[in-house]
Amino acid sequence: MNALSSISDRELRDRLTAAVSAERMAAADVIYHLVELDRRQLYLEDACSSLFAYCVERLGYSDDGATKRMRVARISQRFPQILDELASGSIHLTGLFLLSGHLTEENVDWLLAEARGKSKRQIEELLARWFPKPDVAATITPNVTEPAQAELSTMSGAGNSSPPPAPPVPAARARVEPLSATTFRVEFTASGGLRDKLEHARNLLSHTVPSGDLAALIERAIDELIAVETKRRTGAGKPRKHRGTKPGSRHVPVDIQRAVRERDEDQCSFVDAEGRRCSEKRFLTIEHIEPFALGGPTTVENCCLLCSSHNAHRARQVFGEEHVAQKVGEARASRDAAPAEPAESAVPVELAAPGAPPERDAFQKVQYALVHMGFRSTQAKHALDELRRRGVEPRPEPLLRAAITVLTP
Ligand SMILES: [Zn+2]
Repeated sequence: MNALSSISDRELRDRLTAAVSAERMAAADVIYHLVELDRRQLYLEDACSSLFAYCVERLGYSDDGATKRMRVARISQRFPQILDELASGSIHLTGLFLLSGHLTEENVDWLLAEARGKSKRQIEELLARWFPKPDVAATITPNVTEPAQAELSTMSGAGNSSPPPAPPVPAARARVEPLSATTFRVEFTASGGLRDKLEHARNLLSHTVPSGDLAALIERAIDELIAVETKRRTGAGKPRKHRGTKPGSRHVPVDIQRAVRERDEDQCSFVDAEGRRCSEKRFLTIEHIEPFALGGPTTVENCCLLCSSHNAHRARQVFGEEHVAQKVGEARASRDAAPAEPAESAVPVELAAPGAPPERDAFQKVQYALVHMGFRSTQAKHALDELRRRGVEPRPEPLLRAAITVLTP
């Protein structure tokens, strides 16, 4: 940096311009490489459960930075010309990210032309003009694509019994923001149903939580949920009599499951060649290390926790792509053949609501398709929530492909 102090103003400007230009070229190059890495799913071998995790954990991008690059990488496969916009500096990364959800074969040319040279805010305005979002007025009835929104902050006012005013912004992504070393601000968009349940819980617990404090209420609810879920997964917390598994059954007894979960600390156990471990703690399943199909025993030593991505990755390595695809097909066929479970209707409840055309939202569409394939609606919903978090392009086809990867070991 000291070397710069002696150069002329003109040279300083020229050098800066050259550096920015190189930075843009590099940004496009990064996206270009991400596309190929994604295609090869190389992140799996590097102990990451998703491209997003790879961007954050291996490449050191922030969550936002990772989301933007990933989304732009995925949309660039459909519209490669956007990389030229990025490399030339006509449209910045954030601009392309904002545009990515709206680009179609029909509008891509003029939309890119309109966005060139514009600031983030100008692009947001442009998009709001061309793709206006429906108003969230008090008269609008909740539906699947634009659920009634009730920000929690509007509920915390004491004695507020009337419906909270509609928030001025569309549904935002959930956010956890540290306020101090021990406090956090948690923000998310609640459905009308959740709001009603919170009110109901607040009333039921009015003696235990007299202040009606939402954080206290939610903490109690979460404690209960954790207790129930832990019990469901690991048994009642005390040693169980081994009931013995039928020969040929791949069922993993509850005590083995518990020991494996404890040993693996509820985290994917995949470790890459450099000894780095996958950080995924969701969508975990207990799997045989030496595959069950190849005679691997169901013991604590031969079982481990794997995330759905690494489970599928391992299966592909052991059995090959074709075999995995066939297994997925079989699983689906058997689910289709099974009688519908009365407790969980084959069609997601939300979709059965009148006046809710599923085609209006790629996520709803894919959820519908997944349920139709035989996945439970809650599974499908969780998978789609995960994909939303990963920033998967909101088009039915890539969404469905990604969802199946998440859902099928
Ligand atoms: Zn993993």
